[in-house]
Parts: sequence; C-alpha cells; structure tokens
Amino acid sequence: MNIHEYQAKELFQKFGVASPEGKVANTAEEAGAAAREIGGSGLVVKAQVHAGGRGKGTFTNGFKGGVHVIDDAEKAQEIAGQMLGQTLVTHQTGPEGKLVSKVLVAKAVDISNELYLAILFDRQTSRHAIIASTEGGMNIEEVAEKTPEKILKVFIHPGIGLQAYQCRKIAAALGLRGKLMGQTVKLVSALWNLYLKSDCSLVEVNPLAVTTDNQVVALDAKFNFDDNALYRQKDVVAMRDTSEEDPREVAASEFGLNYIGLDGNIACLVNGAGLAMSTMDIIKLHGGDPANFLDVGGGASKEQVASAFKIILGDPNVKGILVNIFGGIMDCNVIAEGIVAAVKEVGMSLPLVVRLEGNNVEAGKKTLAESGLAITSADGLTDAAEKVVAAVAAA
Ligand code: GDP
Ligand code: MN
Repeated sequence: MNIHEYQAKELFQKFGVASPEGKVANTAEEAGAAAREIGGSGLVVKAQVHAGGRGKGTFTNGFKGGVHVIDDAEKAQEIAGQMLGQTLVTHQTGPEGKLVSKVLVAKAVDISNELYLAILFDRQTSRHAIIASTEGGMNIEEVAEKTPEKILKVFIHPGIGLQAYQCRKIAAALGLRGKLMGQTVKLVSALWNLYLKSDCSLVEVNPLAVTTDNQVVALDAKFNFDDNALYRQKDVVAMRDTSEEDPREVAASEFGLNYIGLDGNIACLVNGAGLAMSTMDIIKLHGGDPANFLDVGGGASKEQVASAFKIILGDPNVKGILVNIFGGIMDCNVIAEGIVAAVKEVGMSLPLVVRLEGNNVEAGKKTLAESGLAITSADGLTDAAEKVVAAVAAA
C-alpha cells in the first residue's frame, strides 16, 4: 500500500522527522488559503499522485511540472488551479498519467544540496537496509548503475537495531559534518523508528535537502507498507486512497485475493504464488501474454473463487482464461463451484482452459462437466498453456 506525500508529512511530524510545514488542498481556493496560513514568501505547490518524477512531469493539457516553487499565495492559488483536475504524466505513471485531485502547499526551502536517503527491506541479506547517496533528486536506479561507488548501504541487525555509529557513518558518507551531522543522526533514527513502527517496506526521501541556512530536511517522501501487516496499522489503512489504485486490485483486496493486473490478454486463476509465477512464465514461453497474476491461496472459499473469476471477467482486455489448480490444501471442487457460480452470475463467452489436479479432482471435474460450460480441459502446464494461447489466437 502507498500513501500521498501530504500524508507522509503527517507521519514525519508524528515521528519527529524534520520536514517543511505543508497543507493539503482540494481546490485552488483552498490552496490559496493554505498558502496564506503558511505565510512567508517562498512556497511550493506539489501535485499529489502516487508516483514520483512529478517535478519533470507534464500535464496532458501541456502545463509543465507537477512541482512549482513560487513566491506568494496568489501564485500558489493560480498554479493549484492549473494542476487540479488535470492528468499528470511522469516517467513513473505510464503514458496514461494520473489524475490530480489534491495538491500540497508547503513552505519552500532554499536548497544548497540534494541528497538521497532510503530505508527498505533487502531480500538478499534478509535485513532492513539504509541506502544513502550524495546524488539526490535523481533517479537512484541510474546512480546505482553508473556510479555505484556513490551509494552507501548500511544493514540493520535484527537483534540490536540501528546503532548510533551507523547513523554517523551515513552522515559522513553524505558529507555532513558538525551541526549537520547531529541533525542527520537524529533524522535517520527518527525515520528508522517510523519505518519499523509503521510496518513500512520502503521509505524513500529524495531529495533529503541541506538548506542554505544549514538544516537537513526531508523534502519529498515515498512510502510502501507491508500489506500483510496492515491489520495492525489502522492509522495507515485510514490513509489509503483507492482512487490511486488499479480498481481490479482494490476489488481483489476486498476479497483477500493476491491479484496484480498486467497488460496481456490471458487471465490466470491459480492457487499458490509459485504456481502463479510459473503459469505466467509458461504462457509467455508459448507466445501468450498474461493479463494478471492471481493467487487465490490455499484456503479460498467458493465465494472468493467466484469473486476472483468476476474480477477476471470484468477486465475488457481478457480474451481467454487459464485456470491452473494443484489441489494440495485446496479442494478442486471448491474451485469448480466458484467458477460455475461466477459464470452463472455474469455470463461468459471467452475460451476457458482448465487444468485441475490433486485433492478432490474427480468431483471438481464432474462439477465443471455438469455445468454445461464450454471448457477445454488440459493435462499439465505445457498442454494448458498451448491450449489457451491457441484459443486466444483463434478468437
Ligand atoms: P518528484 O519530482 O516527484 O520526486 O518531487 P520532489 O518533491 O522530489 O520535487 C522535485 C524537485 O523540486 C526537487 O528535487 C527539488 O529540486 C525541487 N523542490 C521541491 N521542493 C522544493 C523547495 O522547497 N525548494 C526548492 N528550491 N526546490 C524544491
Ligand atoms: Mn523526489
């Protein structure tokens, strides 16, 4: 799950991470009022979308930049008016862009240096890692590729947590000494505390800015939260903005399904993440393109399976469906009943290839056979992939 920058600022404030004051606005008038409340001469207006690269982005109406540093409240209101209700395209939104329905108005700072700081979960070492770089405000993947020596990685021991010497090492690598080192140590510890307590899987501050009056502040923030920990993060869940998410994924999460929408046209309904991955691979191998990743899990109910099938059928790009079930914990007949229930409710004219194997497979096959649905049954992964790719090509 992701949140907006203005919400990230609320978390920063709660955990004591230094960041300029800001307010969210839904209309140009609200933006003007927010700017007057914040006061002062330097302000920044920032489009609120779940994507980075806003500064260099362009609105589909031609207006340039999702981040504008301006002088006064009047200008803040005018810029907010240009952004709100418009679609912003950045290198992270895809060509279709994202609709801007909120802007952040914040106190602008005079920047002397832009740095990079992130905390994330490192799968290779199974530890949380802090990433720091002097190359702030840029695309960090590019920095990692071209100048990896400019990136410091610090791993956090699960038993003893973040140590003060590690924070000092980070500050030193960023070239921050004296008073700035003290501020950085404080900021990094506060950020770590926030990351841990809020069950984040990523906190990225880019840029971490050093101001001309010698302050270290978080100027931008990207957060990812561990979905499996959301049950104990009520405050975080309250920040969820489903209008920013793929509607198919929102529906799937309501039913506790692991679903990720993709660009292809062959929908897959699979149990188990590993089998779901290999099903996508084998579709690709045989020249097809998966429309989604969908793992209904081991203990799915008939209702969950029916919901999964309805989400698949609701996607206009889907031209064929492959159901690939290996019933270990899963009962094959529960899958079959879910499919039949969903099709009876919403109808279906797409080719459907089903490979069922394992627990209660005979009953599952019987349910499908007696349903009257036009189903192509398959034996094994290769046969299933070949059949569904051929059916979609012929359709
Ligand atoms: P992003 O483009 O979506 O990553 O949005 P950022 O919040 O990182 O803003 C993009 C760029 O705008 C930053 O790298 C800064 O150079 C600039 N910027 C953002 N806030 C301020 C500010 O308060 N003062 C100044 N001078 N520049 C800012
Ligand atoms: Mn940024």
